[in-house]
Amino acid sequence: MRISEPKLLAGLAKLDVELRQGTSLADLTSLGIGGTTDLLRIKKHESIPCLLRLLDDSHIPHKFLGGGSNLLVGDGELPWVVLQLVRPDPEIVLEGNFAHVDAAADLGRTVTFCAKHDLGGMEGLIGVPGTVGGALRMNAGAYGMQIGSYVREVKVYRAAARQIEILRGHQISFEYRHTSFAPDDMMLAVTLELPSKPFKDILEGIRICNEKRRSSQPLGQKSAGCIFKNPPGASAGRMIDELGLKSLSVGDARVSDRHANFFVNAGKASARDMLALIADVRERVHKTYGVELENEVVVWNA
Ligand SMILES: Cc1cc2nc3c(=O)[nH]c(=O)nc-3n(C[C@H](O)[C@H](O)[C@H](O)COP(=O)(O)OP(=O)(O)OC[C@H]3O[C@@H](n4cnc5c(N)ncnc54)[C@H](O)[C@@H]3O)c2cc1C
Repeated sequence: MRISEPKLLAGLAKLDVELRQGTSLADLTSLGIGGTTDLLRIKKHESIPCLLRLLDDSHIPHKFLGGGSNLLVGDGELPWVVLQLVRPDPEIVLEGNFAHVDAAADLGRTVTFCAKHDLGGMEGLIGVPGTVGGALRMNAGAYGMQIGSYVREVKVYRAAARQIEILRGHQISFEYRHTSFAPDDMMLAVTLELPSKPFKDILEGIRICNEKRRSSQPLGQKSAGCIFKNPPGASAGRMIDELGLKSLSVGDARVSDRHANFFVNAGKASARDMLALIADVRERVHKTYGVELENEVVVWNA
């Protein structure tokens, strides 16, 4: 979708929103799949209510992009624009055991920055790519921990109320790859409360998690992490593996031969290829195990 209306272009300039026309989402997602659309880069949280009113008035639908590491985006010209927060400087401010972090901050950098200040707890998140905002949306986690456990406050744009609000930790429920945020809420910043821990102990935890990832995940290949959520008490990867589906492919979309719940773009896979592979694997798992696998990857269909 292209923004061309002069009134809207003038409104964006006034709000200091940067317009990047015809951006390829394949270049902005870890799967390397996706068509093109206009990208709007937001420099100030306070401009969001006005920006969304402008887009609504011009009947322009939008999606919200973090780091693009949990997304499968449709092919071709996309029927919506994409909004993304610009990272501020500084992106993290520490106050005792509290870390005030912008949603656009890189998650890995946040973990290491806090570690250098003897604040731990998030070691398991070290290899999870993407932004802090994306991690909040999905309640990212690994190796027995999840970001939600440390959230004390979230600054969020609530589309329903059309305003920025502060939510306390107890007002939000964080479950396995699921949160109580509304689908059109935009996380803008978070306050985390982290336990004090000596830097060298945190580093050792990080080393162990890195080692586990390196030994089990196709880290050099284009993926979006796990495609499916684990059903209660079971492992999606184990079921796919038991069915002998590692390396199954549709075009260049392939089930990783290293981790059966990672589907990789082994060349020039299209969204169509990847969706066909996902549907095929889901059907085979359902046939054998009677389990309907739910996507962990977020699909933005064209
Ligand atoms: C190699 C690899 C390993 C991974 N390992 C893990 C893992 O161990 N554990 C895990 O949980 N995940 C893992 N992932 C998946 C992914 O990295 C996480 O889900 C990550 O938190 C997504 O963040 P993102 O900023 O990239 O979000 P995006 O992919 O950009 O967006 C994902 C969803 O979040 C929404 N979103 C993003 N930012 C915001 C915001 N500020 N406000 C509101 N909504 C927002 C988007 O609209 C979209 O619906 C892995 C991915 C890869 C590629």
